Amino acid sequence: MGDGREQALAASLQHMRDRIDLACAEAGRDSSEVHLIVVTKTWPVDDVRRLADLGVRDMGENRDQEAKAKAAATPDLDITWHFIGQLQTNKANSVARYADVIHSVDRPELVAALERGAERADRTLTCLIQVDLEDGAARGRGGAAPSEVAALARAIEEAPHLRLGGIMGVAPLDEGDQPVASAAAFARLAHIHRELLADHPGASILSAGMSGDLEQAVAAGATHLRVGSAVLGDRPPLG
Ligand SMILES: *Cc1c(COP(=O)(O)O)cnc(C)c1O
Repeated sequence: MGDGREQALAASLQHMRDRIDLACAEAGRDSSEVHLIVVTKTWPVDDVRRLADLGVRDMGENRDQEAKAKAAATPDLDITWHFIGQLQTNKANSVARYADVIHSVDRPELVAALERGAERADRTLTCLIQVDLEDGAARGRGGAAPSEVAALARAIEEAPHLRLGGIMGVAPLDEGDQPVASAAAFARLAHIHRELLADHPGASILSAGMSGDLEQAVAAGATHLRVGSAVLGDRPPLG
């Protein structure tokens, strides 16, 4: 589009790629192992087009209605759509039509609903198991308990239209020292990922890290970063 917004996005994207390269260098990792997903939630479809012009192929969304509209408006772009939000079972059928990777698979009913939707749409969906990284009392706001991961992995593997891609986690918010809290959470996630890989060697994706903690995620072995505000700016208030 070549407008001022595209120039601003080009600059913030370059800054982000430099930040990822630096994080990889510090972690002794190759940048080619780390994929950037730009989270376009709340931003208009024109930004999706601008990002695609700038070479971004992986976009993340967290609400079905918004994601569906953006996917429908961009059939000409070769985008991989990542669904990263909590997913109600009754939305699984809709999401199965356009999403390529679902990062938030956290319960057996959702596995079954996604399989039905994928079969109907004649598609194969890559599923990541979202692991709840909160401790104790805060648990339950999305994400499977670590003890539930193995059974969910089996259920996904047994579903003909689903492919087990790996796992995903969001570090709990910490008012004290977020980098330290994120590093601890991602270390737990990486441990759970290694256990998963022992039984499912193809489940190579470790989706972790956002604008504020991607360095800690890269250090812990993340393969996919989900970055919104650091590329697109602070999200406009909803509504
Ligand atoms: C919004 C969101 C992100 C991106 O967060 P930023 O802080 O804007 O980078 C990543 N993951 C999930 C699950 C999200 O909902």
